[in-house]
Amino acid sequence: MTTKKIIMSGMRPTGQMHLGHLSVLENWARLQKEYHCYYSIVDWHALTTSFDDTEEIRENIRQMAIDWLSVGIDPDVSDIFVQSAVKEHAELHLLFSMIIPVSWLERVPTYKDQIRQFGSQGKDISTYGFLGYPLLQAADVLVYRADTVPVGEDQVPHIELTREVARRFNHMFRTDIMPEPKALLAKIKMLPGTDNRKMSKSYNNYISLSSGPAQVLEKVQQMITDPARIKKNDPGHPDICTVYAYHGFYNQEEKEEIAASCKAGTVGCFACKRRLAERIDQRLAPILAKRAELENNPNLIKDILAQGEKNAAAAAAETLVLVREAMRI
Ligand code: SF4
Repeated sequence: MTTKKIIMSGMRPTGQMHLGHLSVLENWARLQKEYHCYYSIVDWHALTTSFDDTEEIRENIRQMAIDWLSVGIDPDVSDIFVQSAVKEHAELHLLFSMIIPVSWLERVPTYKDQIRQFGSQGKDISTYGFLGYPLLQAADVLVYRADTVPVGEDQVPHIELTREVARRFNHMFRTDIMPEPKALLAKIKMLPGTDNRKMSKSYNNYISLSSGPAQVLEKVQQMITDPARIKKNDPGHPDICTVYAYHGFYNQEEKEEIAASCKAGTVGCFACKRRLAERIDQRLAPILAKRAELENNPNLIKDILAQGEKNAAAAAAETLVLVREAMRI
């Protein structure tokens, strides 16, 4: 039994992972030193919005596992697993669904927004599964009796719901088995998309973690720069330039010099973009090397997930024994 505090977090396998995910994963890798971490590829959550498009889900799961391992999630210290392989998540979700009022789920701020957003794209996600996904998230966390959940600001209402679910369960069944997990707010600066909009798969404005130098350069060349710069010696405004924003993430050492050269009109956008692409390549090189190693060893991925599933299932089964006992079922 671990004496470390417990973290549970997950990601939906809905497509390629990109630079916007890198700082989240690097944060996860740091947290492994202090916490026992359950990191789950939450495929059931992917179904809440992609229920009619499952053709690529297995490959997305495999790619996500490779990305996590390539970035430094260590299977010797953390349990990496696929959510649907640990059925206790579903059992706890079902049991919670008996005691949680529908109105609690309807008032989750993202619920109506997302129904509207998908509706404007012609897709109806007003399903039972979508309404219940914050409750499934609560089960994902509480099935490990996790005390900490690393989240971005937008996920805080979901953790608040998880805390309410834990309180209601404990109160209703006169027990204290459910902890009230705390949100660990990650201080992660958002990287814009290559077109300066929010980075999003639907805009295709991202650089994937599996990009080689040619793909990186292609994406960097598409980036929006200062539109006032027509000629190389026109003075530029780096603060409104996407390329410069990326230099801030991947080229801290040269950032000041680039800003000064841009303002003075002594560096051209083409050269500036090349320098950025080189820096991104340097950052991605160890990730790509590890990815190549893993791609050549598919059984290793299967073994890592199987071991993570075994460990996660053992911990989850212990919780379910306590839950059934508390509920007298
Ligand atoms: Fe942007 Fe660099 Fe061009 Fe300045 S020189 S506008 S920072 S790409």
